[in-house]
Amino acid sequence: MDALLSILNLSTEATAIYEGPELKIVFANEGMRAMFGKSEGIIGQPLLKVLPEIAGQAFPELLKQVWESGETYTANDMLAKLEVGGELKDYYFDFTYRLVKDDQGKAQSILHTARDVTSRVIAWQRVESANARLTESESNFRRLVEQAPVAILVFRGKNMVIDIVNEAMLEILRKDRSIIGKPLLEGLPEIEGAQAVDQLFEVYRSGNPSDGNEAPVPMPRNGKVETRYFNFSYRPLLEGGKVIGVMDVAVDVTEQVLARQKIEANQKRLQDILDTMAEGVVIVDAEARPTYANPMAQRIMGIDEKAFKARSYNDANWHNERLDGTPLPKEDHPMYVVLRTGQPVYDQEIAIVLPDDHKFYISINAAPLMDENDVSGGILTFTDVTNRRLLLQQKEDFISVASHELKTPVTSLKASLQLMERVQHTITPEMLIKLITQANKSLNKLNDLVNSLLNSNRISEGRFPTHKTSFSISELINDCCHHIRSAGKHDIRLEGDPQLKVKADEQLTDQVIVNLVNNAVKYAPKSREIVIRIEKASAAVKISVIDFGPGIPPEKTEHIFKRYYQAEKASREFNGLGLGLYICAEIIEKHGGVMGVDSEVGKGSTFWFTLPDNDHSKM
Ligand code: ADP
Repeated sequence: MDALLSILNLSTEATAIYEGPELKIVFANEGMRAMFGKSEGIIGQPLLKVLPEIAGQAFPELLKQVWESGETYTANDMLAKLEVGGELKDYYFDFTYRLVKDDQGKAQSILHTARDVTSRVIAWQRVESANARLTESESNFRRLVEQAPVAILVFRGKNMVIDIVNEAMLEILRKDRSIIGKPLLEGLPEIEGAQAVDQLFEVYRSGNPSDGNEAPVPMPRNGKVETRYFNFSYRPLLEGGKVIGVMDVAVDVTEQVLARQKIEANQKRLQDILDTMAEGVVIVDAEARPTYANPMAQRIMGIDEKAFKARSYNDANWHNERLDGTPLPKEDHPMYVVLRTGQPVYDQEIAIVLPDDHKFYISINAAPLMDENDVSGGILTFTDVTNRRLLLQQKEDFISVASHELKTPVTSLKASLQLMERVQHTITPEMLIKLITQANKSLNKLNDLVNSLLNSNRISEGRFPTHKTSFSISELINDCCHHIRSAGKHDIRLEGDPQLKVKADEQLTDQVIVNLVNNAVKYAPKSREIVIRIEKASAAVKISVIDFGPGIPPEKTEHIFKRYYQAEKASREFNGLGLGLYICAEIIEKHGGVMGVDSEVGKGSTFWFTLPDNDHSKM
């Protein structure tokens, strides 16, 4: 027995022997003493006296059972609450109670071997509770995802295997749960190539979160693939600092995007209309400050939109005038009227004079922009009516000129006839001839004027036939200028190539040359010489009528071929209708030629025109 005890003493397992039903400790090795927390005074003591704290625990009962049944009891990870420093602490043991019998087979003692496994058990418990938490949070996570009102998809692995997907997402994808477990591009082949897909893989690669705003993604809809728009967030799923997947939270914003695109398209259409409108459009706020000016408005006013916004309708940078040339008071400006009264204004014409004295006319329509019942601004549309106004002006001028021009021969005709009537019984034949000649002259003058008027109307409507023949231009000039030569006040000198022929209406060409030569005589009376030059100009013949008179200022030459235009109309020094050059230019144009003037004040004028030459005439 002693030899046995010394072996037990060496055992690494904690060992004790309890004798009799009262469990008197007869042996406890180092290990067991350490477990008991007591090294002295335990031998010969009943176990429950040494460890009173186990009284209410399972051990006394188990020992009793072993004592009575004789069956060995083994337990693993059994909890024991042992008192250490006045406090109960948890310990865990693997242990065995084994009955030792005497030679007669009678119960004699219980051999108790035990191993303290507290640290292992606690470690496991930690792992387990962590595990428990993990599973709980994982399932919470799944539940959260599945019940979330937003669409969520969780991918795992570098192939983006679809791991979790909720109903909201399945609804968007038009898929069922069979996509779970499939790699993204296998489960959703439609979306391949979308930028949002590349972005997803990038989040997996980089581990950086990434978002998408109104990203277009092809989606199956009604048997076709349709572009839908999404706002989404990609978040990497990390485990131990490593990316193991990506979570995609997406919101379908297609309806908003389409609605906005529609509004944008409408706006663009409106913008296109405003941009290409032949009318100027300006929008002003309640304080009459321009907030928008379309390109035509900028063109008419000669300033860009930025400059527009810095000005007002009543800006000192331009003077507004009434049609009669008096200043337009601010209160009468259509914009002011609209903003003050809230009533629209239609077709009001005003003149605008720029700092450089350039004057132009605009016709304005203005309407208020209402905000509830208040005028919040105004919209002004206007067209440049300068040409129309000038034409009207010219027409008015023309009527007064024409009446004046017609009155002179009519008065003189009337005078001749009245005289004839008065002296009809006493008139001498010489006197009669003189009066008839005078009356004829007046009548011819009248006839010419009426012809010009008729011609100008016919010509402006393009109603004049041309009978083209081939003729020598120098011969025509020689014939038609006879009257000037015989008057003896001017020398007409022909220059250039007299052989040149043109293909044109001879009578109309005659009319043009006579007109130019007559003008030279009329407007350059003091210059004796008139040169007519005939020269070749590519596929045409150029004819120039050159005088050495007062010339025409450059700002007037551009208007000179216009109907009714008279460079010196104010002076009324020369009579005429302002139609001659207009008719000439129309005739030349009808022949496919060009007419122009080169002039220098004080030196003279060169009126020229081209006519197709004989070889190249297409008409
Ligand atoms: P009208 O002679 O009937 O006024 P035109 O059309 O023939 O009409 O001429 C228009 C204007 O051009 C004239 O009023 C005149 O001022 C100017 N003009 C025409 N020819 C000459 C010229 N050779 N020299 C200077 N001014 C001219």
